[in-house]
Amino acid sequence: MEKKNRLGTLRFVIFTILSFILICSAVVITVLNHYKPAVKTYINGEFIGYFSSPQQFDEVYNDLVIEKQNIDQNVKVYLETEPTFETSYIRESLLSQQNVYTNLRDNIKTEFVIYKVLVNNEEKMTFNAQDDANKYVEDLKSEVSKLNVQIKEEKVSELGELTTVEKADAILKDIIDRNKPIKQNTTTSKGSTSTTEKASAAIADAALSQGGIWPTVSHYISSPYGWRWGTIHTGTDIAGKGGDPIYAWKDGLVTYSGWSGSYGYIVKVDHGNGISTWYAHCRKLLVTAGQEVSQGETIALMGSTGFSTGNHLHFEVRINGVHVNSYLYIK
Ligand SMILES: [Zn+2]
Repeated sequence: MEKKNRLGTLRFVIFTILSFILICSAVVITVLNHYKPAVKTYINGEFIGYFSSPQQFDEVYNDLVIEKQNIDQNVKVYLETEPTFETSYIRESLLSQQNVYTNLRDNIKTEFVIYKVLVNNEEKMTFNAQDDANKYVEDLKSEVSKLNVQIKEEKVSELGELTTVEKADAILKDIIDRNKPIKQNTTTSKGSTSTTEKASAAIADAALSQGGIWPTVSHYISSPYGWRWGTIHTGTDIAGKGGDPIYAWKDGLVTYSGWSGSYGYIVKVDHGNGISTWYAHCRKLLVTAGQEVSQGETIALMGSTGFSTGNHLHFEVRINGVHVNSYLYIK
């Protein structure tokens, strides 16, 4: 009886041990299948994530360097400190779930070099290519020698807003327009058409090359500049619909916006070089004195206020205060 019992106990123990080994193997296999060796990565003491190896870290880092170089190929990319790697095991799924790109991107340092074009110590343009800055500085120096033009080099961690070529060209043109002296024969006699026409003809070419635009939608001249009813008509009348937009002829500074007798509601814009434009008989004024306007900006709506018999814009160009044939500047 005792022998039989012992045999039973032995069988039970062996069975239990075998079962235990089996379960342990299963657990180990499961764990090995789902857990992978990885390197726990830190930069500057900050946990970045798990990488399968330091080589994988390098790959991700290089991807990010390329990402920054796509913005500016001369960018300096670096880490403040070398990364430290700790061997560890993690669930395989975690490797793909984590956001190492984002974490590492936050820890990457960048240094961009930007070149600012300063005109009389005022920042006018910003480039990340030195050649671009040099080009515009050379252009400015040759066109308007009286201005103090410099390049300021700066190192920044973010690139910020850069000046596009289109924008830079427009700024360049504007600076030249505003500062280039225009030779002209000024006239003071109010009634003399021949003198004013001479003055306008002399300056018209220069102004035309400065690119003023037609100030209205309609191109119908209802009354030209010149003698009319025994007096001189000081502007060009362009008929149109009431409420039509009136556009700024060029960039400039609004010097007056309000009521002015027979002109009705009028906007006066100073464009530099002694050139200003007047927009009269407006229904509505959309700008105020002291405001800077851009070429093509809607500054008022067409109307028939003041001494006017129908909806039209009375467009006047004045050079050093003297009205000239404004049609020559928009034709
Ligand atoms: Zn008129």
